[in-house]
Amino acid sequence: MTTKLFDLKGKVAIVTGGNGGIGLGMARGLADAGADIAVVGRNAAKSKEAAADLASRGVKAIAIETDVTDKGAVAAMTDRVTRELGRIDILVNNAGINIRKPPHQLEIGEWDSVISTNLTSAFLCSKAVHPAMKQAGGGKIINIGSMMSIFGASFTPAYAASKGGIVQFTRSCACAWAADNIQANAILPGWIDTDLTKRARKEVDGLHERVLARTPAARWGAIGDFAGIAVFLASPASDFLTGTAIPVDGGFSIQG
Ligand code: NDP
Repeated sequence: MTTKLFDLKGKVAIVTGGNGGIGLGMARGLADAGADIAVVGRNAAKSKEAAADLASRGVKAIAIETDVTDKGAVAAMTDRVTRELGRIDILVNNAGINIRKPPHQLEIGEWDSVISTNLTSAFLCSKAVHPAMKQAGGGKIINIGSMMSIFGASFTPAYAASKGGIVQFTRSCACAWAADNIQANAILPGWIDTDLTKRARKEVDGLHERVLARTPAARWGAIGDFAGIAVFLASPASDFLTGTAIPVDGGFSIQG
């Protein structure tokens, strides 16, 4: 019984930004549970390498060079997944960027770039996979928020707006598509050691120590910390769970 609850054999997952960081951590979890994976990102070489890593786990994995802010590219990407992997059961909207500036210094182009990468892309990809999921009799959408879905910071106006927005977008999809047996949930990562935060630690003085001091688990997260939650939210184990936003943060958000 327990193995079936978390079994993803025969399922196909799209992971945007699956070529590194948290996306690769989740993709590895999904592959280990048996899902075939489409790795979606702009950097073709990095995506190819990630697909090889996933294929070595015994599943089919393909790399698709896509800018997820481009509606036409997203449509071509989902067509290719259906053609090459046969179906779409799981979508992980993980691609994301940050530009760290206070609101009075942020340019409109920078605002647009963060919102379209972190939020509009989730709309484009979710809308694009909906017909395939509906036809298959159900599906799972996993959106990646942030501690900035809950908190604000002086240097993250667009990022926090996008990550707050993604929680509300998740709830709306959960309501709209429950009748199609599609569950949509968000994960809110704490502070995780990836390329994104390596840059943040250079740009924001004292960040590394502040995160350690505030996190009850007393460590930065690792990409492997996201395998379990991805499998749970992609599998039958979470069939009655929808519209939630689950912190995976070593306790960062509950420490007063
Ligand atoms: P990385 O920089 O390692 O990963 C970001 C991924 O997004 C890359 O794989 C990148 O691939 C992809 N990406 C960016 N822009 C686009 C685009 N336009 N089209 C397609 N793919 C794109 O960072 P993380 O792993 O840290 O971040 C992953 C997610 O987790 C993000 O949404 C981030 O906001 C979120 N997050 C991270 C936290 C952390 O502490 N690390 C904390 C909270 C949330 P490529 O360059 O090939 O396009």
